[in-house]
Amino acid sequence: AKSLEDGIFMKGELQRFGPIPMSPCAGILNYGQGLFEGMKAYRKADGSILLFRPEENALRMRIGAERMCMRAPTVEHFVDAVKQTVLANKRWVPPPGKGALYIRPLLMGSGPVLGLAPAPEYTFIIFASPVGNYFKEGLAPLNLIIDTEMHRAIPGGTGGIKAIGNYSPVLKAQAIAKNKGYSDVLYLDSVHKKYVEEVSSCNVFVVKDNIISTPEIKGTILPGITRKSVIEVARRQGFQVEERLVDVEELLSADEVFCTGTAVVVSPVGSITYLEKRVEYGNKGVGIVAQQLYSALTGIQTGLTKDTMGWTMVVD
Ligand code: PMP
Repeated sequence: AKSLEDGIFMKGELQRFGPIPMSPCAGILNYGQGLFEGMKAYRKADGSILLFRPEENALRMRIGAERMCMRAPTVEHFVDAVKQTVLANKRWVPPPGKGALYIRPLLMGSGPVLGLAPAPEYTFIIFASPVGNYFKEGLAPLNLIIDTEMHRAIPGGTGGIKAIGNYSPVLKAQAIAKNKGYSDVLYLDSVHKKYVEEVSSCNVFVVKDNIISTPEIKGTILPGITRKSVIEVARRQGFQVEERLVDVEELLSADEVFCTGTAVVVSPVGSITYLEKRVEYGNKGVGIVAQQLYSALTGIQTGLTKDTMGWTMVVD
């Protein structure tokens, strides 16, 4: 895209966006040895640019790197590289209220391997692209379908880190769901096939009698930074928040369901279809708790409200 032209961060240098040289034997190409992150930079009303908890992405990449036999940048290196990439793409950060600059750090096994083994060299690159608001006007509820056949992650696998390979098993499930008119797929655990895990690229919360619950992080669910932040914000607002096993039946009898992630921020769920049965949530699917948490979180991320949590980092 034209918008990607300004620069990427590669091997300590900024380069114009374009193809990157790579060995056909690279670990990433042959054995999927790769990790990524997703972040957003928002422009504040005074023109400054804000990052949201970038150290958390750095730490998540470091944890993932250990599992994927790679060495990751230090937190300082990661955050500095992200800042430099944002600065180089400054003119692509949309004005307040018009979206964000999406930032994609990637860590990959770039060195050559033939037999199955970790690559001897890694490459860390970052590219960025402006993105619009996930919802054009207000909050539009998601219509999800629970897939009972396909799973995103298995115990002992890489579901708990942001491995590139976690996204290939969901492509088909998501394509089928979208073809049928659903927004996305909600996955259950692969062992009991009854505990809620997450959506293809966001975490899930349920609200019942004003108590907020979300599946606990146990290796098959990505520890979302938005999830963690929403839990903290909700507790500050006086909500009881539980991290535990969430049975699919609880989801179907909840007062409200919402998803969290860098892309969707906090997104209400309007309906869930499970085994041919469709459950619709009240208030046209836009729950009060989801709305309240959406405002609180976007307020901090975009600099509209004072950041009393110390989560934002000014880039420029
Ligand atoms: N789950 C999955 C599988 C994801 O890809 C993402 C997006 N990174 C999330 C949850 C949400 O994580 P975060 O809030 O850190 O964006």
